[in-house]
Amino acid sequence: MATRDRTIENLITRLTRLPGIGPKTAERLAFHLLRVDADEALQLAKAIEEVRAAVKSCSQCFQLDAADPCGICTDATRDRTMLLVVEDPREVIRFEEVGYKGLYHVLQGRLSQLEGIRPEDLTTAQLVLRVRREQFAEVCLATNPDLEGEGTARVLAEQLAPLGVKVTRLARGLPAGSSIAQVSASILADAIEGRRPLS
Ligand SMILES: [Zn+2]
Repeated sequence: MATRDRTIENLITRLTRLPGIGPKTAERLAFHLLRVDADEALQLAKAIEEVRAAVKSCSQCFQLDAADPCGICTDATRDRTMLLVVEDPREVIRFEEVGYKGLYHVLQGRLSQLEGIRPEDLTTAQLVLRVRREQFAEVCLATNPDLEGEGTARVLAEQLAPLGVKVTRLARGLPAGSSIAQVSASILADAIEGRRPLS
């Protein structure tokens, strides 16, 4: 059996590590990159290099931005009494689209027994510190309405309880098991509007 070039194997292995890319797709992408114009393929490598150099996690809210603190944290027109806690930076974009005007805290994931993700693997300690230090009137736990998202919200609510801040959850209008990344803008807007206290 003919062996493939080591560099092609390396590329396929690296592509396989991307979410949603299986070995077959990785192989197809690798050979596509070899077939197209060299310049076209190298532009992809360059785009990855540029975005990694330019975009960082904000040291206050942990969303991704070219500036630290990010554009939202430094925006004087935002409502600084409202904090929305989300799992992922992509969800910040969703809430921005539906006109949310408060601040954010990005957990960088959610708790998962199955995947061994514990509170110390997320930005939970930084969240508690922030709520202790800043004057939030409300912290809304906008983790996803699925099993792990609900579990994460419960743990966070327990950690925030001693601080005496009002803790809420998005309205129940979000279909159970759905994800914030996928629901329609109108459902998401209603979910923020109808926030409910979490006891
Ligand atoms: Zn920020």
